[in-house]
Amino acid sequence: MGGGAAGLSAAWRMRKAGFEDFTLLELDAEAGGNARFGESPVTAYPWGAHYLPLPDAGAEYVVDLLKELGPVTGRDAAGRPVFDERYVCHAPEERLYVHGRWEEGLFPRAAASRAELDSWARFSERIAAFRRLKTRDGRPAFGVPMERSSRDPELLALDRLSFADWLAREGLGGGPLLWYCDYACRDDFGARPAQTSAWAGLHYFASRPAEASELTWPEGNGWLTRRLAAPIKERLRTGALVFRVEEVRDGVEVDWLDAATGEARRMSARAAVVCVPRFAAARIVPALAAEAAVTAAFVCAPWMTANLHVTDAPRGVGAEPSWDNVLHKSESLGYVDASHQAMGPVGRSSVWTYYRPFPDGLPAENRAKMLARPWESWKDEVLTDLGHALPGLERSVSRLDVWLWGHGMVRPSVGFMFGGERALAARPRGRIHFGHSDLSGFSLFEEAQYRGCKAAEAALLRI
Ligand SMILES: Cc1cc2nc3c(=O)[nH]c(=O)nc-3n(C[C@H](O)[C@H](O)[C@H](O)COP(=O)(O)OP(=O)(O)OC[C@H]3O[C@@H](n4cnc5c(N)ncnc54)[C@H](O)[C@@H]3O)c2cc1C
Repeated sequence: MGGGAAGLSAAWRMRKAGFEDFTLLELDAEAGGNARFGESPVTAYPWGAHYLPLPDAGAEYVVDLLKELGPVTGRDAAGRPVFDERYVCHAPEERLYVHGRWEEGLFPRAAASRAELDSWARFSERIAAFRRLKTRDGRPAFGVPMERSSRDPELLALDRLSFADWLAREGLGGGPLLWYCDYACRDDFGARPAQTSAWAGLHYFASRPAEASELTWPEGNGWLTRRLAAPIKERLRTGALVFRVEEVRDGVEVDWLDAATGEARRMSARAAVVCVPRFAAARIVPALAAEAAVTAAFVCAPWMTANLHVTDAPRGVGAEPSWDNVLHKSESLGYVDASHQAMGPVGRSSVWTYYRPFPDGLPAENRAKMLARPWESWKDEVLTDLGHALPGLERSVSRLDVWLWGHGMVRPSVGFMFGGERALAARPRGRIHFGHSDLSGFSLFEEAQYRGCKAAEAALLRI
C-alpha cells in the first residue's frame, strides 16, 4: 500500500527476489507520492522531490537501482560508483540573491564579516571532523541511509539537543552561518534549527562529502519513480484508497475504496507492506489504534510548491541563472529550473519550481490556513518574492500552478531520531510490515527506498 518511492521500492525489491504475486494500491491517480511530476509542451517538471545526492558505495539499494536504470555506469578502481554525466547536475549549480545581487554558491559570503567567515571555516572543519571520525562501532558517524550511522552514545546524545543549541554551544550561533543552517533545515526538514534534532542537522551536512553533487532530471525524482512504476503496470492499482488493513487468522485483509466506481473492495493476502505516512497508517491499521503517543511523535511539515511557466525570464544581476536559485532572507527556498539539464540549444521557455515550507506555528493550523487561501494570494506571494531578485518577472510568466503538500515530510524534532517512537513504528505487527520514509525520521529518496526494500524483505521472509 502506498505508491510513493517507498512502496514502489518495495515492489522493485520483491521483483528482484523473483516474487511477482503482489498488488500495489495507491490512492492517487498516479504513483510517485512526493516525487510526483507534471508535463507540458515545454518540459517535465517536479511537484516535490527534485534531486538525489550522488550516493556512495554504502547506499547499496540506491547504487543497485541506478545501475539498473543507467545513471551509474560502473565502478572506479576504488569501488566507487561512476555516474553518467547527463544526469549529474550541470554547472552552474546554485546561486544566492543577497544584498541586491546574485552570488555563486549558497553561503551568503557577501553578507559576512571577517569574524563570520571565520565561524563558517570553523563550522566546516567541525563537519569535516565528523566525516573523518573513527567511531567505536566502525560505522560512519552519519551515514545514508541513516541506519548505517554509528550508534556511538556520544553521537546519539546529539539527538537530545536542538541544532540551534549545538551551534550556540560551539560558539557558531549567529549571522550568515545561522541563516545557512536555517535554510538547510527548512530545505530538508521543513523546520527551523531550534525545532530540529542536532543529530539530524549534523547528518544533513556530515553524511555526504563536502564536494558532493547531485543527480537531477527535468521531472526531478519522478524520473526514478516513473521507471519504478513502469514494469509493474499490471500490478499497480491507482485510485485505490486503502481504509483497513487487519491481520486475520491466516493472512491479512485489505479493504479499499475504488475511486472510479465508489465501491469498497476487499483483498486477501499472505502479508501486507504498508508504505503510507504514519499518520495515515494509524488510521487504516486497527492494530495501531492504541499507539496514539507514537503516532503523535510524527510531526509533518506542510509545504507549498508552485510551477511557473516562463518565457524570456529576466536573468538578474550578478551570477548566472543556475539550477537552484535561492533568496537570502526569504521565507521561500527560491526556485529550481526544470530545463537546466537540457542537452539541446538553450530554449527561451522553461518551468521553474518554487518551494515554500511552513516551519513556524502549528502544522495543523497552517494546513487549515493553506487550504483556505485562494490561488491569487499564492500567485501574488510567489511573484512578489521572486520579483525582488528578478524585477519584471511577472511579464514572463504565462502560467502559475500551485500544489499544497499538507503533510509534506516528517520533521526530525529534538529527541525524535532515537527517542524510541520511530523504532516502535517500524516494528511489524504480525503479517503487516511498515516501510515509509517517516520511519527514518527525515524524508529522502534513499530513506524511502531503504524502508520500502527492508519491509519487502521482511514480508517475503514471512511468506
Ligand atoms: C516539497 C518536497 C520536496 C522534496 N524534495 C526532495 C528532494 O529533492 N530529494 C529527496 O530525496 N527527497 C525530497 N523530498 C522528500 C520525499 O518525501 C522523499 O524523497 C520520498 O519521495 C518519500 O517517499 P515515501 O514513499 O516515503 O512517501 P510518500 O511520497 O509520502 O508516498 C506515500 C504514498 O502513499 C499514498 N497513500 C497515502 N495514504 C494512502 C491510502 N490510505 N491508501 C493508498 N495509498 C495511500 C500516497 O498517495 C503516496 O503516494 C521532498 C518532499 C517534499 C514534500
